Amino acid sequence: MTATAKEIWFLTGTQNLYGPETLEQVAKQSQNVVEQLKAGFGASATLTWKPILKTSDEIRRVMLDASADDNCIGVIAWMHTFSPAKMWISGLDALQKPLLHLHTQAGQSLPWATIDMDFMNLNQAAHGDREFGHMVTRMGTARKVVVGHPTEKHVQDRITAWAFACIGWNTSQNLKLARFGDNMRYVAVTDGDKVSAQMKFGMSIEALGINALVAAVAEVSEASAEALCQVYEAEYDVAPELRAGGARHESLVYGAKIEIALRSILEAGGYGAFTSNFEDLGELRQLPGLAVQRLMADGYGFGGEGDWKTSALGAILKSMTPAGGGTSFMEDYTYHFGPGTPKVLGAHMLEVCPTISGQKPKIEIHPLGIGGKEDPVRMVFTAKPAPGRVVCLADMGDRFRLISNEITIVEPTADLPKLPVARAVWEPAPSLAESAEAWILAGGSHHTVLTNSVSLETIEDFARIAKAELVIIDEDTNLRAFRKELQWSASYYRLAAQI
Ligand code: MN
Repeated sequence: MTATAKEIWFLTGTQNLYGPETLEQVAKQSQNVVEQLKAGFGASATLTWKPILKTSDEIRRVMLDASADDNCIGVIAWMHTFSPAKMWISGLDALQKPLLHLHTQAGQSLPWATIDMDFMNLNQAAHGDREFGHMVTRMGTARKVVVGHPTEKHVQDRITAWAFACIGWNTSQNLKLARFGDNMRYVAVTDGDKVSAQMKFGMSIEALGINALVAAVAEVSEASAEALCQVYEAEYDVAPELRAGGARHESLVYGAKIEIALRSILEAGGYGAFTSNFEDLGELRQLPGLAVQRLMADGYGFGGEGDWKTSALGAILKSMTPAGGGTSFMEDYTYHFGPGTPKVLGAHMLEVCPTISGQKPKIEIHPLGIGGKEDPVRMVFTAKPAPGRVVCLADMGDRFRLISNEITIVEPTADLPKLPVARAVWEPAPSLAESAEAWILAGGSHHTVLTNSVSLETIEDFARIAKAELVIIDEDTNLRAFRKELQWSASYYRLAAQI
């Protein structure tokens, strides 16, 4: 699930009109622009310079090559000189990868005292890029426009944010998701159109019988499960009763067997995300908790109660998470309306990812009130304070809607000594009352993906690449305007639908 081998191609537009000497300078300067961008590029992909493009045929060819190359996850285009945009029509038509238009110049400052017509002829992006932009807009090609010199931090940061979105899009396009059981009975928001999801996002949502997991658990040897329990004892604060020799050690061994079996099924099938359903566990003795948490920490997406959309979104957001950041499956569970700033207590039955933890997780065993199974083992911790966001993917029937709410993860107001699950406490923007009203009006789900490090800009870039609706709830949200935005947005997406 690493994207380190992936490339983003840097394309430079020009034309033969300028003659070989000038074109040599164009090539050299565009290589230099790529080197300057690399100095501040923070995503796990490589910026690859491609030879300058002088003709319609060259443009079409490189766009076809970019589209066909599995390693290429996005294309940056810059018109160093004037590159008549009719030359770009067939290439843009062929492009199947995300596009970023970098509107820049080789030089940051004008050489006021020496500037002459040679300089003017060489540095024409100010109008060359506008010619290109006209064509991209006219063709309706989704793209991000970034303006500024390649040494400027905001330019490098905005390109990095988009590159993470390209990584997420690549994940989405190639994602296989394993569903163990269907979704929870009668629940609306976890259901959805899996065919439309594949057409829109590329993801393949596949059903697996729970018996496949039960059988795989039965095959796991005691020795390998015990070895994994040793890893648990080394990495986490394991409750004494679960440790080797403890009275309930066998439950931990069974939890380890679930992890080994689940991991082997996911690896063998090339799955990057999965779901479970506590109503549909077959002969499984525990609801998978610890196993799900550990797999999420390794980058797998997860959704409870058969929620494949949140699971898929989790895998996508995890792949867009910068190193050291945290992203988890989450559920708005219960509220603190006051006194003090109103807060959300988020958790799930068991399955919260330890990448959002600020402490060494404990492994504990407690009863689960529902499901009628044995007590499951789980990691318990509290999410570390950080700014972040919760994101969901809702199926509106005629389209998918992404909703993102800016939040601040905070320390719980008091200790939670009797709460036996991992949790996060946050203050949503602009306030709990306004955030929840907006979220409910937008039809957002109770399941979300919480991230403390995928930027809102990356989420916006991802939505633009996917041509998916995105609704943002943040400090600037005004409910009156928000209600109108939902109406306009519904109209737009119904008009824009391509059937
Ligand atoms: Mn749930």
